Amino acid sequence: MTSHTEQSAVTVLGLGPMGRALAGAFLDAGLLTTVWNRTPGRDRELVERGAVGARSAEEAVAASRLTVVCVVNYDAVDGIVRRGAVTGALKGHTVVNLTADTPDRARNTAAWAAEHGIGYLDGAIMTPTTTIGTPAAVFLHSGPTEIYREHRPVLDALGGTHTHLGAEIGRAAAYDIALLDIFWTAMAGYAHALAVARAEGVTARELAPFAKGIGAILPPIFEEAAEEVDSGRFSGEGNPITSAVSSMAHIVHTSEAHGIDAGVMRAAEGMARRAIGRGHGTDGFIRITEILNPR
Ligand code: NDP
Repeated sequence: MTSHTEQSAVTVLGLGPMGRALAGAFLDAGLLTTVWNRTPGRDRELVERGAVGARSAEEAVAASRLTVVCVVNYDAVDGIVRRGAVTGALKGHTVVNLTADTPDRARNTAAWAAEHGIGYLDGAIMTPTTTIGTPAAVFLHSGPTEIYREHRPVLDALGGTHTHLGAEIGRAAAYDIALLDIFWTAMAGYAHALAVARAEGVTARELAPFAKGIGAILPPIFEEAAEEVDSGRFSGEGNPITSAVSSMAHIVHTSEAHGIDAGVMRAAEGMARRAIGRGHGTDGFIRITEILNPR
């Protein structure tokens, strides 16, 4: 067994699938790891692997200078740490909150931490539990640089890449929201595509290889669109909105002919038509960013 040192001790609050993966990676790295979860019993396997199972959140946070929190949302975080005894035990310690929520909630939690003399970093995990402790994990962090630097060696035990996005505490959550926007909209599109394909007698398995092909053409499109959105100069060369909107209309018609809701595609088509109506028909589809949030 790897030797533990009190100096590198870390506490993990929250032992859902992600919290267990984080605690497991800390243990694998040989760090003395204290764990706690609202519902007892979720720490059994971790304790068998050498973790210290704390009897209360207060006891857990008192055990380490660094506490990593990973629960369902910030209401749950507040329910755990914003209680007299736990808040008191955290004074002079640091919390790295890897729970997902909104930028505003991150700012609010940072204000609470500052008020109580608690160091605070906010973070987001962009990859599934299976990546934790491997090079494939992706972590985003924001908050005071000196706190990040101090705890980076412990966070490195989680593997993967860690990116500090700056001192503004809401930045990690802002990236998280934007990236999850891409993910869930894409998943909604895929679920819809599979429903329409099935109505046309095409199985999900038959479509999957070609669906992967659609995924593969996106990265260079993302790069090009980023240039256009940041510069405010749009080019529809290759695929103007007038052409895109026609293909969207085909999807709406086919879906609705099968009695399948086409609300998501109707929303996208509507925005594209507004862009055309404002005289941007020769621009590419990404011009709708300006319809959604005019600069
Ligand atoms: P969940 O999002 O389901 O979180 C489960 C954890 O939240 C458990 O520890 C649970 O405790 C705790 N919890 C829920 N409600 C409360 C409450 N009211 N008070 C105290 N604790 C509460 O599962 P994950 O572990 O997967 O996710 C944790 C975070 O990680 C989430 O913010 C998620 O978005 C993020 N994440 C997860 C990924 C994944 O692949 N799973 C990927 C990237 C980010 P109890 O056991 O007592 O119910």
